[in-house]
Amino acid sequence: MAGKTILILGGGVGGIVTANALRRQLDPEHRVVVIDKRGEYVFTPSLLWVMVGWRQPAQITKDLSRLLHSGVEVRRAEVQEIDPERSVVRAGGEELAYDYLVVALGADLAPEAMPGFAEVAHTPFDLPGATALWSALQGFEGGRVAVLVAATPYKCPAAPYETALLLDDHFRRRGMRDRVEMAVYTPEPAPMGVAGPVMGQAVVGMLQAKGIAFNPQLNLTHIDPAQKTLAFGNREPASFDFLAGVPPHKSPRVVRDSPLANPAGWVAVDKRTLATPFENVYAIGDVTTIPLANGKPLPKAGVFAHGEGETVAARIAEAVQGAAPRNEFDGMGYCWIEMGGGSAGFASGDFYAEPDPEVPHPRAGRLWHTGKVLYEKWWMGEGLARTAAGLGLRLGSKLLGIPASL
Ligand SMILES: Cc1cc2nc3c(=O)[nH]c(=O)nc-3n(C[C@H](O)[C@H](O)[C@H](O)COP(=O)(O)OP(=O)(O)OC[C@H]3O[C@@H](n4cnc5c(N)ncnc54)[C@H](O)[C@@H]3O)c2cc1C
Repeated sequence: MAGKTILILGGGVGGIVTANALRRQLDPEHRVVVIDKRGEYVFTPSLLWVMVGWRQPAQITKDLSRLLHSGVEVRRAEVQEIDPERSVVRAGGEELAYDYLVVALGADLAPEAMPGFAEVAHTPFDLPGATALWSALQGFEGGRVAVLVAATPYKCPAAPYETALLLDDHFRRRGMRDRVEMAVYTPEPAPMGVAGPVMGQAVVGMLQAKGIAFNPQLNLTHIDPAQKTLAFGNREPASFDFLAGVPPHKSPRVVRDSPLANPAGWVAVDKRTLATPFENVYAIGDVTTIPLANGKPLPKAGVFAHGEGETVAARIAEAVQGAAPRNEFDGMGYCWIEMGGGSAGFASGDFYAEPDPEVPHPRAGRLWHTGKVLYEKWWMGEGLARTAAGLGLRLGSKLLGIPASL
């Protein structure tokens, strides 16, 4: 059997998991190649801790090659063209042929798509934004704080709500909460709506308990940086003194320009196999769109990119070894919600359940915050620290009966 080349586009959550799983399962004669334009990985859940000064950027950033198993090739290059009809990709000006392709290019932030956003909004959704937000908080002495979701879809449905709860925590620690009025504005009917009404009500309850107003179903038309107002198509404007927000998202240009994209720019895949209509081409993670039984899309979240990556790696390994691919993605997911005060909520469930995802009421407390810290150490740590964090997570998930893939 001649050696095969598996190209993985994107070295984020999905790309890393897929590459490492393939390297474990395939003989060394087969090449596993990851192409990423940044060459370094940022642990996104901790961006929210950078935003409130609990982490320094260096603590949540790591060279990509240090997260990949030995034997995985890494190329730092921009993917410029994907041609699934010819089974080639152009990256860094070079044409590369593949036997199997995994597209894991994520979702890009597009602040320019909402007039006024780039001028006046702070965003914790990337490292420069989270760092700048932390700096801007130092000069804020009180007033109206708006936490905004500019448009859907966006990654991590919990993140805007965690942003509000962590900012609340920050203002309390600084002894200035009584000088701050806080409100969330979103086009969504409820927080984390895909997970169902129980989850939505639980998160609204968390906001209310902290005196944070929740304003759903808003059609934001633009932001006025001079007046410091949010303009909506379906209600009167809201004014703010400090704006923290989720910018609009779009799929990466190279994907939008490829035959893989649907009219909205995302890649439609089979929800169980992650296969695209093109032979030996898979797509995983934020770049995909997967409609659920209730008509809503599977959320863009690292936990799904992770599970999908494991499925795709197993399917490719099975095919390379001459077997019919059998592994399927089950739609199981979990999520932490940072609540401030050293506490977090945690929920897990079956997002492929019909007619609606089955996600029970989140459990909450200090233990869950500790679980999130362990999760960070497991992803980012090395040697003994990583092993210890992994053991802690495994033991905790067994005792509490939550997904073992943690
Ligand atoms: C503030 C915040 C908090 C979050 N918290 C959580 C959480 O608690 N739990 C959770 O499950 N998810 C969370 N997420 C979401 C999670 O980060 C994403 O869903 C996850 O990273 C998606 O993985 P991916 O592999 O699809 O894409 P990504 O991890 O975004 O990786 C895509 C990679 O592709 C590369 N790339 C893009 N275009 C090109 C190109 N043209 N050429 C070369 N390389 C390219 C990028 O450099 C990047 O490394 C959070 C996100 C944010 C912003």
